[in-house]
Amino acid sequence: MGRVPHYDAIVIGGGHNGLTTAAYLAKAGKQVLLLERRDILGGATVTEEIYPGFKYSVASYVVSLLRPDVIRELKLAEHGLEIVPLESSFSPLPGGDYLVRWADRDQTRREIYRHSPHDADLYPEFGRLMSQMARAVKPLISMAPPDPTSLNPKELLELAKLGRYFARDLEQEHFYSLVKLMTMSVADFLDEWFESEPLKAVMSSSGIIGTFLGPRSPGTAYVMLHHFMGEIDGVFRAWGFPRGGTGAVAESIASAARSYGVEIRTSADVEQVIVKKGRALGVALESGEEIYARRVVSGVDPKRTFLKLVDESHLPSDFVEDIRRFRIQGSSGKVNLALSELPHFTGLPADGPHLRGFISVGPSIEYLERAYDDAKYGAFSRRPYLDIVIPSAIDPAMAPPGKHVMSIFVQHAPYNLNGGWNDAQREAFGDAVVDTLAEFAPNIKDAILHRQVLTPWDLEQVMGLTEGNIFQGELSLHQLFFLRPAAGWARYRTPVKNLYLCGSAAHPGGGISSAPGRLAALEILKNWSKPWSS
Ligand SMILES: Cc1cc2nc3c(=O)[nH]c(=O)nc-3n(C[C@H](O)[C@H](O)[C@H](O)COP(=O)(O)OP(=O)(O)OC[C@H]3O[C@@H](n4cnc5c(N)ncnc54)[C@H](O)[C@@H]3O)c2cc1C
Repeated sequence: MGRVPHYDAIVIGGGHNGLTTAAYLAKAGKQVLLLERRDILGGATVTEEIYPGFKYSVASYVVSLLRPDVIRELKLAEHGLEIVPLESSFSPLPGGDYLVRWADRDQTRREIYRHSPHDADLYPEFGRLMSQMARAVKPLISMAPPDPTSLNPKELLELAKLGRYFARDLEQEHFYSLVKLMTMSVADFLDEWFESEPLKAVMSSSGIIGTFLGPRSPGTAYVMLHHFMGEIDGVFRAWGFPRGGTGAVAESIASAARSYGVEIRTSADVEQVIVKKGRALGVALESGEEIYARRVVSGVDPKRTFLKLVDESHLPSDFVEDIRRFRIQGSSGKVNLALSELPHFTGLPADGPHLRGFISVGPSIEYLERAYDDAKYGAFSRRPYLDIVIPSAIDPAMAPPGKHVMSIFVQHAPYNLNGGWNDAQREAFGDAVVDTLAEFAPNIKDAILHRQVLTPWDLEQVMGLTEGNIFQGELSLHQLFFLRPAAGWARYRTPVKNLYLCGSAAHPGGGISSAPGRLAALEILKNWSKPWSS
C-alpha cells in the first residue's frame, strides 16, 4: 500500500527553477510537493540577514534573464516581485580615471569618446548587432531542444523549423556573426570591434563570469552573448535589482506556487530517488520517510541527481560516463560586506549615480587573463576580477539608515585549490578581494562592519551546488542546447522513466531565468498521458 502515489509530482530542490516547475505543474491542476533541504527557499537566489539589520543577496545579486513570459504567466508582480533598474556600469581605472556606461546612450558615447573616438563611433552598431544576435538565439533558448539524431517525426519537424529559421529568417551576415560568437574567444571577438582596453575589459568580463576560462579562451564570446540576453536593444535598464534582494524572486515564485496549491516543505533533504524497474516512484528523505508520486522532477545538478540520488544500477553506463565528464568546476566566489559608509572611488564624488549600477574592477583583458592564470594552476587570483553592486544604494531597505551592503562577485577562485580550502585560505581570499578593491576605493577597509566570504567550496556546502559551479555546470558549447546535460537527454527527460530535470543544468542553462523550470514543466505536461516516449 505504501507505494500508492501521494502526489502527481514531487520536485526536488526549492531553487527558483524547482519553484517555477512546481508552480506551472500545479497551475495545470497537478498535485505537487516541493522538497528543499535548507530551511530557506531559493537556492542560489536567496536573501539572508547574515549580520543584524543588513540583508545580503548571498549568492546571485542581479536579474537580467528572468523570462518575461514567466513573470506574466505566474503573475509575479502580484506576488511581490519588483525589479529596480540598474543605472550604470562603472569601471574604476588605475590612477583615478574611469569608464562609465550610462542608461543614456549619448552620455555613454561621450564617455567612450574620452577613451577612444573610434570605439565611440562603433559602440551603437555593436549594441545593435548584439541585440540582433540575442534575438537570433531567442528561439533556441525558448524551446526544448530537438535531438538532431532523432528519427521521431515531431523532433524532425522542430529541426526542420529551426533549419528554415537559420536559412531563411536570419540574414547571411548575422549568421556569420552568430557562428563567430559561438566559436571565438570574447577577447578576439571584441578585438575585431574595439581598441580601448577599459571598454574591451568590461565587455569581456561577462564572457568569463561563472566559467573556468579566461577572456582568451574560445567559447567565451557565447557566454557574453548569454549575459546579453537581458540587454535586448542594448538597454542597460534591462538589468535590475529585485527589491528585497534576489531572494525576492524566489519568494514571489514560491508565493505563486502556493497560490496554485503547491505544498512546500523545507528542511527536507532528499537522500534517494526510489526507482523500480527503470521507473521513478518517489523519493526517500534523509529522515527515512518515503513519499510516492507519479513524476519526480529534480532541480538539483546532474552530478547530485545521477551520481548520488539515483542508484547507478538504474542508469546506462555511457550516460553515467557522460555525467561524470560534465564540466562543473567552480571558479567563482562571493564576498558580502556590511559597510558603515559608501566606498569612495578615487577621482569621483563620494556618492553619485555611478554607485547605483554595476561596478566592475578589471581594467584590461590582460588583467582578466592573469586572474585566470592563477586559477589554472590551482591558486585563487591575488588580483581578481570583481563585479560589484551596492544593493542598499538602489534599495535602501537592504541596510539600516545611512549604512550599506555591498555584493562582490569574484572571479577566479578554483574549487580544487592547491592544499584545499580551509579557514585561513578563505580569509586570505577575502583579504585579496578587499585589498584589490582598496586600490580603487581607499576608504573601504575602514568602512567594513562585517564580511561574509564564500569560496566555491562554501557554495557547494551552503547552496548544494556541486563544486560551487554557479550555473550547475559550465555554459561551454559542448554543454549547451541538445548537449545539456548529455547528448540525447536534453529534453528534461532522463534514462529513468518519470524522472525529469528542471534546474540550471538543463537547457538553456544558468542564471535567474526560470527558463529551464518553465520548459521542463511544459514538456512534462505535454507528455503527461504518455510520459516517456523518445
Ligand atoms: C555566487 C553566485 C552568483 C550568481 N550571480 C548571479 C546573478 O547575479 N544573476 C543571475 O542571473 N545568476 C546568477 N547566478 C546564477 C544563478 O543564481 C543560478 O544559475 C540559479 O539561481 C540556479 O537556480 P536553480 O533553481 O537552477 O538551482 P539552485 O539555485 O542550485 O537550486 C537547487 C536547490 O536544490 C536544493 N537541494 C540540493 N540538494 C537537495 C536535496 N538532496 N534535497 C532537497 N533539496 C536539495 C538546494 O539547496 C537548492 O535550494 C549566481 C550564482 C552564484 C552561486
